[in-house]
Amino acid sequence: MRLHDLPAYVRDTVLRMLPHRTRTGLRRVGHPGRDAPVLLTGNFTLTVRRLRDVLRGRDAFILVADSRGINVWCAAGGGHLTHHDVISAIRTSGVADQVDRKEVILPQLSATGVERRKITEATGFDTRWGPARLEDLPAFLDRGRRVHKDERKMRFPFWERMEMAAMWGVPTLVIGGLIVEPLGGLTVLAAVAASLVTIVVGVFALLPWLKVGPGWRWPTLGAFTVLGFGVASVVLALLGRFTSGPMMWVGASSLLSAGILSADLEGTTPSYGSYINTFHNPASVDLVEEKCTGAADCVQVCPRDVLQMDGKRRKVAIARPDQCIQCGACVVQCPESALRFRYADGSVVEAETIRRTRMNMVGKRTVPVPD
Ligand code: SF4
Repeated sequence: MRLHDLPAYVRDTVLRMLPHRTRTGLRRVGHPGRDAPVLLTGNFTLTVRRLRDVLRGRDAFILVADSRGINVWCAAGGGHLTHHDVISAIRTSGVADQVDRKEVILPQLSATGVERRKITEATGFDTRWGPARLEDLPAFLDRGRRVHKDERKMRFPFWERMEMAAMWGVPTLVIGGLIVEPLGGLTVLAAVAASLVTIVVGVFALLPWLKVGPGWRWPTLGAFTVLGFGVASVVLALLGRFTSGPMMWVGASSLLSAGILSADLEGTTPSYGSYINTFHNPASVDLVEEKCTGAADCVQVCPRDVLQMDGKRRKVAIARPDQCIQCGACVVQCPESALRFRYADGSVVEAETIRRTRMNMVGKRTVPVPD
């Protein structure tokens, strides 16, 4: 990242929970020739900026499709980025006139919503999956556009968890500050800020080691609420305002922070299971073996290394079911519709339903996508 990009980077990070659109179409990095790679992404400002940064010093085309200003994974999972958007980007951008090799590299995390075969049928462009994470793109390109097995796995490193903490913490603190400061003064605001920072930063810093699944979410968040409340109480005591009025503000803000985080841990944080749709009725990915032809498209798009190819039987095996986050990418991409979701109550959601509908904000498959 260049220094003069820093303010925009900070702005886009703390406001990343809101859609932030940039223009769609074809962009150039360096001086791409007719053999340059064409990399697709969505029109979320932060993603496009980061993709440019990762490709700096190379010659490439970036094809920006309309993801409604939302990041690729969330947009594809929520029906805001589909193959229709990719097809539209290819047709309207003029990319076909710029390259000899008719191939688009798709972000792996778009596999929950983008059916790659439909892109080829409609445009004649071949597609291939890139790595799950942007920083692995240079190695992928240097290797002749081949993804290493480890690059398919989604990771959630510390600095990205801190970005998530900033995404929740900064706007909450600003809104809370506007309410608390006029009523309780700067001392109370300092205590509320201490509580919020303790809870939000603490949860995201320790997330890989925390239990946040069904049965554990509220005890975990409750423990952080008590911790935040305790830190804020110490601040109030040090500032000489340890009385019932300020304590009430601190208690309310601690509960609010935990409530907001619970929504995130329910399903919007990458790499951790989405419990929002399975809390009372857990689902698992299910393979209909007779239908499997061993195409292994599912293996290429799984961000959790759940699936593997059984070479002897020439069929896919569900090797690590406990790792599945029910993202649906494998189900959407299987050419034989051999994968589906099976719920604990015995009900089954077939591939066609997964393809035709996406998750809404409360985790129900009710968002239709066009045929
Ligand atoms: S196995 Fe689970 S985590 Fe992997 S792609 Fe399928 S639904 Fe997603």
